[in-house]
Formats: sequence, C-alpha cells, structure tokens
Amino acid sequence: MSSYDYDLFVIGGGSGGVRAARVAASLGKRVAIAEEYRYGGTCVIRGCVPKKLFVYASQFHEHFEDAEGFGWTVGESSFDWKKLVAAKDAEIARLEGLYKKGLAGANAEILESRAELVDAHTVRLAKTGQTVTAKTVVIATGGRPNPHAALPGHEFCISSNEAFHLEELPKSIVIAGGGYIAVEFANIFHGLGVETTLIYRGAEILSRFDEDLRRGLHEAMVAKGIRILCHDTLQKVSEGEDGLILETMNNGTLRAGVVLLALGRDPNTEGLGLEAAGVAVDERGAIIVDDYSRTNVENIYALGDVTNRVQLTPVAIHEAMCFIETEYKNNPTRPDYELIPTAVFSQPEIGTVGLSEEEAGKRYGELEVYRAQFRPLKATLSGRAERMIMKLIVDAASSRVVGAHILGHDAGEMAQLLGITLKAGCTKDDFDRTMALHPTAAEELVTMYAPSYRIRDGKRV
Ligand code: NDP
Repeated sequence: MSSYDYDLFVIGGGSGGVRAARVAASLGKRVAIAEEYRYGGTCVIRGCVPKKLFVYASQFHEHFEDAEGFGWTVGESSFDWKKLVAAKDAEIARLEGLYKKGLAGANAEILESRAELVDAHTVRLAKTGQTVTAKTVVIATGGRPNPHAALPGHEFCISSNEAFHLEELPKSIVIAGGGYIAVEFANIFHGLGVETTLIYRGAEILSRFDEDLRRGLHEAMVAKGIRILCHDTLQKVSEGEDGLILETMNNGTLRAGVVLLALGRDPNTEGLGLEAAGVAVDERGAIIVDDYSRTNVENIYALGDVTNRVQLTPVAIHEAMCFIETEYKNNPTRPDYELIPTAVFSQPEIGTVGLSEEEAGKRYGELEVYRAQFRPLKATLSGRAERMIMKLIVDAASSRVVGAHILGHDAGEMAQLLGITLKAGCTKDDFDRTMALHPTAAEELVTMYAPSYRIRDGKRV
C-alpha cells in the first residue's frame, strides 16, 4: 500500500481529465479529480456541444425557406433566444451529470474545488485549504479565450464563453478572428438574424485549411449576407450611446451591439503551483511534455489544451487513453497525431482530413488533384444557390490519398469516415473500385476518375 492518499490526482474535469480519472479508477486505482467550475470542461459546458446546438438552431430559417420549393407553405416563424439558451443549458446540465455519474460509477472521488500543486506529490484544495498527496498527478486544466489585452477597450468585448449566455440577441455583432470559433459563430449569429461582420487580419479566413475551401466558404458566407473584412484588425473599442464603436485599421469606424473576440486560446496554467512543483512551461504558458505526455517532473503528466499540442476534444481523450496505457498497463504509448479529421461547423460546413493541396505540394514531388464542384440535389428544388466542393489530393507516385476536403452539407460526417480510409492508407484505386451509393453527395468521392489537374514540384501544371 502506497503512503500517498491517492494513486492518481487529476486537476481539471474536462474531456481529458475525466477520461484519465474514470479509466484509472475503473482499473482499481485510488483516484481523485478536482474541477473548479463545471464537470465536462470547455467542450461540454461552453464549447463544442452547446456550439453545435446553436448551429442547429441557426439553420432553421434556411430550412423554412427551402421548404417552399418542396411544396410546403410554412406559416409565420419567430425565434426566441432565451428559449434556446434555456434548452441548451438543460441539455448541458444533463451531460454534466453523466460525466459525474461515470466518475462516481468507477469510484473516483469527485472534488468540486480548484486544486493547486504545492510540490510534485502534494495538491492543495482551494475550497477547504486541505492538502492531499498522490503518487501520480495529471494536469488537464484546458485553456481559455485569449483576452487580447493589448486592444484598447477589450474589456467591452466578449469571448465565446459569454456568447453562450447573452441576455439578449444583439441586432449586430462584429467578430474578430478568422479561425474555427470566429467562423462558426459568424454563421450562428447570422443564421439567428443578427447583422454579422467578421474582421480578420490575414488574406483569407481559416488559415490552416485548404485554400480552395477557404475561398469557397468565404464566398458562400458573403452570399448569405455576412460581411467579411480581411486584411484588417480592430484598433480600439469604446462604448457609444447605442452600442459599441470600433476603430479598425482599414475599414474606418464600425458600430455593433456586441464585439466577440475569437483570437485563439491560452493554456490555463496561471496560479497552478507549477513552479512549486518544478513543472516547466513554454513561452505561451503551455506545459511542456514529452512524447508520452509526461512533464519534466517524473510523476506529473499533462493532457489536452493545457499542453497546446492540438486543441481538440478527441485528441485530449486520446492522450488520456495513451497515459493510461503508459502509466497503468506497462505499455508505453505515444499519442498519434497523424491524419486527425476535423470539421468547421460553418454553413456550409467544412470537413477535412490529411494534407491541404498547399501542404501536400511541399511534401510530394507530384500530386493528382481530383476536384468536383456541384449543386447538391436538395438545392435544385429549394432553389438555393449553393455549391459543394470535394477534393482528393493524391500522391502520384504511390497513388495514396493524402488529403480529402469537403465543403457542404454533412462535410464533418463524411470527414470522419474518410479519416478511416486515409488512416488505412487507401489509394485512389481503392476509391475507384468502391461502388457509388446513389443518390448521395458523397458518391462524388468515388466517381472522380480523371485528375482535374496535377501539381508538380509545388506548381500547378
Ligand atoms: P484559431 O487558432 O482557430 O484561430 C485564431 C484566429 O485568431 C486566427 O484567425 C488568427 O489569425 C487570429 N489571431 C490570433 N492572434 C491574433 C491577433 N493578435 N490579432 C488578430 N488576429 C489574431 O483559434 P480559435 O480561437 O478560433 O479556436 C481555438 C481552438 O479551439 C482551435 O484551434 C481549435 O483547435 C479549437 N476549436 C475547434 C472547433 C472544431 O473542431 N470545430 C471549434 C472551435 C474551436 P491567423 O490565422 O492569421 O494566425
């Protein structure tokens, strides 16, 4: 019997922390987990899950419009923001309960308190001042929105955290940033009837995605009525008589009811006692870990967004499972970051896995690019001016598909399945000999027989 109070102490009750605690406890380890806010973490409480519910809510007005083309007459419709927020909150509370139930069912001790390290094996619970000891510590405290403190007037702006609990839906919103959060919320607010402007410093939104899809999404968003200002940044935000006044670098003065900053997220490491425990962080405050998520302190691991590796829920969960293998199953396992499928829940959606055309062009001597752009069947009767884009990037030498990119309905669902095929190393021939499933949009993926163009030494030929 060890002299520590626990075999494992987990700080942070988000996706990564809960998984590590639950599985370790189910293996018979004595586990405690501490969370200062709500169990479920960013993903469940104020991230992926409530965001997706808001995405659904924001799509209905287009569904109502589309219905007419199919013979329906939809009566007058109206939207109640408070009702949506309350329904979302009820669902989130249910999910939070399930997280706790899973932990309790595995016999992990659930602590509702902030926890800070006193030394490598000792944790202090802020609520009671009590200290406890553990053989192994996992830090999974996640991240928080970058407040952009250098922006004069940033205190008048909100982050995605507050966007989930606005008292009223504003008439207008300006969203700063061009990443996942900015783009998703621009589509949500626009869909709910808010006059929406996106302001982004670069040449094109979603800098890490395939250029073709970025352009396609930008055009689709503008066509819906979202204003997108690229090559521009906010210089100052101040309070006016009826809303906020924004000075921009290149587009003069803007006005908005709400300004949402979506300029990346910072790791939650402040005041955690990392110095006292001797845990090293990088220049952004992220905990530095080795290939097995172990920090420079032998018995302390860190998982998920707090390490700033890949800020995605399934990645944090995967890192937690690798930690379990490494620490408790005598099977050192490194998280695998190759070919992570990802989606942007914009409208239309982006779903992608593998290399963009630009990235693949740098890595492979010759590429075949298969590209289809078409009007989905549903858009024929609805009359919606909407195009889907599908792209496969193929290494010409091996015929392996190294990237797959989709813009359009259910792109995220398709990207999940394409993730399996790319992970399995499927070649273009495998796609070609797969029977099409008709009539679907996805059948395009297996019916693009001739390359649309080639990329040789990074250049289109
Ligand atoms: P992202 O990293 O996606 O985007 C940050 C954006 O802010 C980029 O457009 C970036 O520009 C811009 N930016 C950063 N600093 C500045 C600055 N000083 N001035 C002006 N612009 C700036 O972060 P998000 O906040 O959107 O999301 C955080 C993370 O959460 C994402 O990385 C993602 O991993 C995860 N997430 C995933 C979702 C999903 O899976 N669907 C949904 C939401 C979040 P530039 O591109 O030029 O650097």
